[in-house]
Amino acid sequence: MPLAGGEVMAEQASMLAMVLDAPGVALRAARIPVPVAGGTDVLIAVHACGVCRTDLHIVDGELAWHRLPMVPGHEIVGTVVAVGPDVHRLGVGQRVGVPWLAGTCGHCRFCDNGHENLCDGAVFTGYDRDGGYAEYTLADARYCFALPDRYDAIHAAPLLCAGLIGYRAYAMAGGPRRLGLYGFGAAAHILTQIALAQECEVYAFTRPGDERSQEFARALGACWAGPSDARPPAELDAAIIFAPDGALVPLALAACRKGGTVVCAGIHMRDIPGFPYALLWGERCLRSVANLTRADGEHFFAVASSVPIHTSTVVFPLTRANEALEAVRTGGIDGAAVLVPDARLGDGVREE
Ligand SMILES: [Zn+2]
Ligand SMILES: [Zn+2]
Repeated sequence: MPLAGGEVMAEQASMLAMVLDAPGVALRAARIPVPVAGGTDVLIAVHACGVCRTDLHIVDGELAWHRLPMVPGHEIVGTVVAVGPDVHRLGVGQRVGVPWLAGTCGHCRFCDNGHENLCDGAVFTGYDRDGGYAEYTLADARYCFALPDRYDAIHAAPLLCAGLIGYRAYAMAGGPRRLGLYGFGAAAHILTQIALAQECEVYAFTRPGDERSQEFARALGACWAGPSDARPPAELDAAIIFAPDGALVPLALAACRKGGTVVCAGIHMRDIPGFPYALLWGERCLRSVANLTRADGEHFFAVASSVPIHTSTVVFPLTRANEALEAVRTGGIDGAAVLVPDARLGDGVREE
């Protein structure tokens, strides 16, 4: 089957996809029918799909699963190859990004007040809807983003969740001058570049002994990098926790000044241990960030248009998605893992 964008798929065409049959089981490479775009959906030929830690939580069964079998992946860059009858804002041949937020009810108290990220009826890409670990995917045109031209598909993919939700967390951090980042993976390496462009000092915290990630953080411009149980050399104005470890919460609070903010940016975290009230006292604020709004995406991609972000990526063929997930699980890569459909790997993509 030709994989170039632009053609309309025959209804019975099939595609390669990595399918989750049950939590805790490796994804299965399968040929499944190419879906047909109806209503407000567009059919997208996937050029690249980032691997997010949330995918791991879904595959490992740490999040309650919504439907199975299912195709994960919510950092999708591709080209529209067919549009549903009710699509008005996108056309065949346009490049789009597909994020985690796949749809909202549009009329609940959250949707009505600019908090569609909290919509009770929200659906999510690669969770409620099949995602981007496939050659093609469907997405509601109203929830897709235009992407800055300066990023190719592989380097744009990690922006769609690691970048976007990292930026939402940063926006909740209250304009810090000294920012701590706990867990230095895909999200932190993007956010570091944005924060530095805004003259914020970045302090990077990694798993104790993970010298490689500390070196990676310093190379990106972090003024200090060390183990998560260390006190930084200066009090932080805010900290963002990307690693899924609740034990980091009291450590981050202890590293923050009075009035500082600790933002938990992941969808899942191991339990937070008890800690003395004194760590929260002094008007320190502890909060989480959940999902994204379309407005977040508009803001973030405007920033990404003006601040050149170099996403450090390691490319895996789609059929090696299980290895990519394992690499994210073990923290074995600097930056982000990105899947590219095997048949596209000849199109000049490379690791960097
Ligand atoms: Zn709603
Ligand atoms: Zn994600």
